Amino acid sequence: MNLILIGAQGSGKGTQAQRLMELLNLKPCASGDLLRKAVADGTPLGQAARPYMDRGDLVPDDLIIAMILEDIAKMNGSKGIILDGFPRNVAQARALDERFAERRQAIDWAVYLDVPRAALLDRLSGRYICQADGHVYNLKTNPPRVRGRCDVDGSPLVQRGDDTPEKIAHRLDIFFTETIRLTDYYAVQGKLLRVDGMGAVDQVTRAILDGVNAAPFDRAVG
Ligand SMILES: [Zn+2]
Repeated sequence: MNLILIGAQGSGKGTQAQRLMELLNLKPCASGDLLRKAVADGTPLGQAARPYMDRGDLVPDDLIIAMILEDIAKMNGSKGIILDGFPRNVAQARALDERFAERRQAIDWAVYLDVPRAALLDRLSGRYICQADGHVYNLKTNPPRVRGRCDVDGSPLVQRGDDTPEKIAHRLDIFFTETIRLTDYYAVQGKLLRVDGMGAVDQVTRAILDGVNAAPFDRAVG
C-alpha cells in the first residue's frame, strides 16, 4: 500500500507518518530527507540536484521523483511507502502518477489531515524549540514543565526564525491555495481519505486505519 499524507505544517502529519509507518510496515519517504541524503552522498541524482540547491532554486520535479523511485526500489521488506512532502501540487502529482504507472505502481490512498487554518495558526504560533538541541514544545498542547526552559536539558526555549507570524501565515497561504488542490485531484480518482485532524493523536490514527481499511495486527502477522 502506497500512501500520501497531505497536511499543512502543524496538522500533525509527521506524528501520524511515524505511527502509520510502524503500524502498517510502510517505508517513510520524505522528499526533503531524500534530497539532502542524495546530495550528501554525491549520488548521480544528488549531483544533478546540487547546482539548483546551491543557487537556492527549487530542484526540478523529475529529479525528486527519480529519487523517490530509486528509494522505493529499496523496500527491504516494507509493504509500501508513505510519501511526505511530495507531491505539493497537482503538476507534481500527475508526474508522479505517470512514473508510478510505468512501473506498475500506484498511489492507493491520499490521506488529508483536515485542520482549519485558524487552528493551525494557533498551534504554530505557540511553537518553541530549545536552544541546545532543538527539542520541540508547544505552549498550548505540549508546554515545558518549567516556563521557558527545556525539560530535557534546561536550555532556554526560543521561537525559530521561520516561525514568525508573517512566515507562518505565508506557508499556510501556499498550502491552502496550492497544495489543498491535491484533495480534488485524488478525490476524482476515488483515493482521497479526509480525516478530521482536530482529534487526539490516537483518534486520528484510528480514523486513518479505519479509512484505509487496514487491520494493522493482521498485517503484522501476514
Ligand atoms: Zn532541549
